[in-house]
Amino acid sequence: MPTFEYRSVILTPQDLTEPRWVPALAEAGLNTLMLHAVRLPYDIDALINFRNSDVGRKLRDQCHAHTIGIEYEMHTAAWLVPRMLFRENPEMFRMDLQGNRTPDCNFCVSSEDAWAVFDERVRRLAVELPSDTGRYLLFGDDVQEGACHCPQCAALSASDQALLYANALLRGLREVDPAAQVSYLAYHATLRPPETVEPAEGVFVEFAPIRRCYRHALADPDCAVNRLQAQALRDNCAFFSEFPLHVTEYWLDASRHGGWQRPAIELPVSLDVLRRDLEFYAEQEAFSVATYAVMCDAEYWNHFGSPPLQEYGQALLAR
Ligand SMILES: [Zn+2]
Ligand SMILES: [Zn+2]
Repeated sequence: MPTFEYRSVILTPQDLTEPRWVPALAEAGLNTLMLHAVRLPYDIDALINFRNSDVGRKLRDQCHAHTIGIEYEMHTAAWLVPRMLFRENPEMFRMDLQGNRTPDCNFCVSSEDAWAVFDERVRRLAVELPSDTGRYLLFGDDVQEGACHCPQCAALSASDQALLYANALLRGLREVDPAAQVSYLAYHATLRPPETVEPAEGVFVEFAPIRRCYRHALADPDCAVNRLQAQALRDNCAFFSEFPLHVTEYWLDASRHGGWQRPAIELPVSLDVLRRDLEFYAEQEAFSVATYAVMCDAEYWNHFGSPPLQEYGQALLAR
């Protein structure tokens, strides 16, 4: 079996308007496709509609014919605890550093009412967007300062709150999908390991070094930016020593490399950096790797040709 059991690309339905994607994933030896929501919470409803549409059904059939499993990888707090509840129930939402309750992101992880809404919505999400592999990569909102700082939550770091979220997701998802596994996302505000919360059996770590440098390999000691990221990965691996590691990267992410602006730029991928990164991830015993390839849509393929997908697949399988 290859070192990286799961080999994935993360795309939005819009990227998949390019019809060459699925055959190219298969040809590259990739075996999972992660679908992603960008604008939240709206794009989660859009993903549900997409899944139930003719185009979505055709995508599933096409993936299954190539033995590619579909999974979902996205920030979910704004969908699981709808923001419109704030007016009537401000205590369900997070308290910011100034002491004000705000619905801007996430919620109060000490609020039983918030968790009751969360639990019900998790079960619905599992029914609407089931994972072909049993893996669910769903996590809190995408912000630097998104933890609750109310009197009950103040001692919990952003990472502790994110791990409570993953543990709760796992409990809810397993009511619908008994073999569900859930990612805890180490990224951005949650790059440091948790301190007080323990992971439940069924959690795996998802390391996503969004702020890394791509001119140097992640483990290059001569890059000060990547030294921090690589150390955060080692620290997370030490904390989650009994738990599997999945890496989410941005090698093929035209959105990230172009500063999330259109038109997309041609991907500046260094195959040397990619291979050295994979060597490092294999050393950390990652069993699964994905890269975003958002904005590699029909327009991208028409302008620049295929993103370097075959090179990515070959590098993954060479480990
Ligand atoms: Zn709180
Ligand atoms: Zn660098």
